[in-house]
This record gives sequence, structure tokens and C-alpha cells, in this order.
Amino acid sequence: MSLLNSTPEGYKSGFVALIGRPNVGKSTFVNQIIGENIAITSPVAQTTRNRLRAILTTQKSQLVFVDTPGIHKPHHLLGERLVQSSKKLIGEVDTIVLIFDGSQKPGRGDQFIVNLLKVDKNLPVLVILNKWDLVNKSNCKDRLNEYIDFVDNKDWPVFSCSALTGNGCDVLVESISQSLPLGPYLYPPNLKCDQPEEILLSELIREQILLNTREEVPHSVAVRIDRVDEVSMDKNNSSDLKKTAVLATVVVERKSQKGILIGKGGSMLKKIGKTARLKMQKLINGPVYLELFVKVVPDWRSKPARLSEFGYEGK
Ligand code: GDP
Ligand code: MG
Repeated sequence: MSLLNSTPEGYKSGFVALIGRPNVGKSTFVNQIIGENIAITSPVAQTTRNRLRAILTTQKSQLVFVDTPGIHKPHHLLGERLVQSSKKLIGEVDTIVLIFDGSQKPGRGDQFIVNLLKVDKNLPVLVILNKWDLVNKSNCKDRLNEYIDFVDNKDWPVFSCSALTGNGCDVLVESISQSLPLGPYLYPPNLKCDQPEEILLSELIREQILLNTREEVPHSVAVRIDRVDEVSMDKNNSSDLKKTAVLATVVVERKSQKGILIGKGGSMLKKIGKTARLKMQKLINGPVYLELFVKVVPDWRSKPARLSEFGYEGK
């Protein structure tokens, strides 16, 4: 039986874009809803470079979340591509979820996004004030009203939630579902993510690099998975037990960044590799052997061919 035929009556489905500035909690929100660590999250802004589709299938609907890089002012070629891909996305989806950091007052950068969305009047937009756990109880009402005034659009319902604790997220999923058109399953009901395993693996490495090095090795880092092999657990190949061997190259722009990444006697790279490996084992559900190489490619972010090599497609 085809998937289409097996869709329940009255079923709703569609693509949902998460739009918001870097660091407001888009990836955390996706992970909270799907219940798995799919999108990488980090206290460092702008870590989500590849478009991840996370899929939530319920009895009544299928929501396909497209996690996007935050919209911001482009600084260089990589930044421009991120903004292009966000703008393009607005035209491709069924519903927009506009996420703000509710623990902060609305700002000028937020106005830019609101104006961008107001252009298409037929597109359903839900507004989320995230990080509500950080808002003082006595301030909640004022902050909510502040944002309602700010978005200034009675067609856009405003919700508050905490993607971190999960508070308020169920209600949101229900409202997002209702905003979708009637339609069949877009993906097999048991699928949670449409990215190839390699992207997920490279994102796990990138996450650990950003978490462990902070400002010293900023966004000028890219990870390429060179090989993923199933290998025997022992040297003589006699055992049936297999582990997954992952070889990856980490590319930085400067020699100094390579030094920081490797650390004293290789200690930093070891730490990054170990934590990433443990997370990979969870993802793959089996033992993993991980080897990381570090390579300096000056100015890779400004070279179109290099960007494509690392999976950042142009228009
Ligand atoms: P993105 O850039 O919009 O995808 O943001 P992330 O999901 O990577 O989150 C950025 C940072 O905000 C991370 O350190 C998260 O743990 C944190 N964060 C996200 N949601 C919440 C929330 O609801 N409450 C609090 N306190 N922190 C959050
Ligand atoms: Mg993100």
C-alpha cells in the first residue's frame, strides 16, 4: 500500500519554517519537540549551517520542521548564503514559526524579520516567545503585551514557551498542526530526520569544537566526513562484531586556530574527539572509532568552490 493511501482521513501535513535570529533557541525547540538531539545547539550563535528537516508524526498530522540559520546582516559570503537560504525558505513552506528570545525586549534586528514576513499576507505565522523560564513571573504579562504590540498583526497568535524545559511546547505543536493544510504523509511516519548520517556526524563534531573552543575558533570552522566504514572489532578480522570507523577533516582558516584546536600535546583535539565519539555512538547505536585531522585552508569561507565542497549550496 502506498504511503498516500495509508494516510488517515482528515490528516494534515506540511513544512514549517523556524525563523528567528541566531541563538533564540530554534534548534533547542526542534530537539525538544522531536525528543532527540537532531539539530545541534550551542551557546555560540549561528551554528546551524545546513538545513535540517526534523519530522514529527502524530495521529493527526505530520510536521516537517525546517531549521534555518538565523536571519542577520551578512558579513561575508558565508553569511550571505545563510540569509539567502532563509529568504528562499519563506516562499517554500506552509507555516512560519517566528521565534523570539522572550527573555529580551524586541529589538531592531527583530523588526527586520517581522517586515520580511509581512510581505506574504496569506502565510500563517505563529509567534513564539521562547526562554520564558528566564522571565520573571511579575514581568510576563508586560513582556507578552510588548511583543503583541511589536509584531502588530492580529492574524499572528503569540505564544510563550521554554524550549529548554518543554513548558508550553505541547500547546504549540497543536496550534502549528491546526495551521497546516490537509495532506498525506510527506515522509515515512517513523522517520525523524531527513539528513544523511554524514551530516549529522559532522554536526556532532562541529558542536564539540564550538563548545570547547568558544571564541578562539569561531565560525571559520568546517567539518568534512572523509570516510565512514564498518570495520571488524579485532585486528585479525576474525570477529563478527563490527564498529563504525569515522575519518573526518576539520578545516580552519588560520594556523593559530589549528594550534588551539589541537591543544597542548593534542589534548584539546582528544577531548573534542572523545565527546563527539560518545554522541556518535548514541546516534548510531554501536561502537565508533573516530579519527580527526586538522587542516588550514586560508579564507575558505570566501571561496565559492570551497563552500560547495563543505555543503553550503548557493541559490
Ligand atoms: P538557535 O541559534 O536559534 O538554533 O539557538 P539554540 O537552540 O542553539 O540555543 C541557543 C542557546 O540558548 C543554547 O545555549 C540553549 O541552551 C539556550 N536556550 C534555548 N532555548 C532556551 C530556553 O527556553 N530557555 C533557556 N534558559 N535557554 C534556552
Ligand atoms: Mg540553531
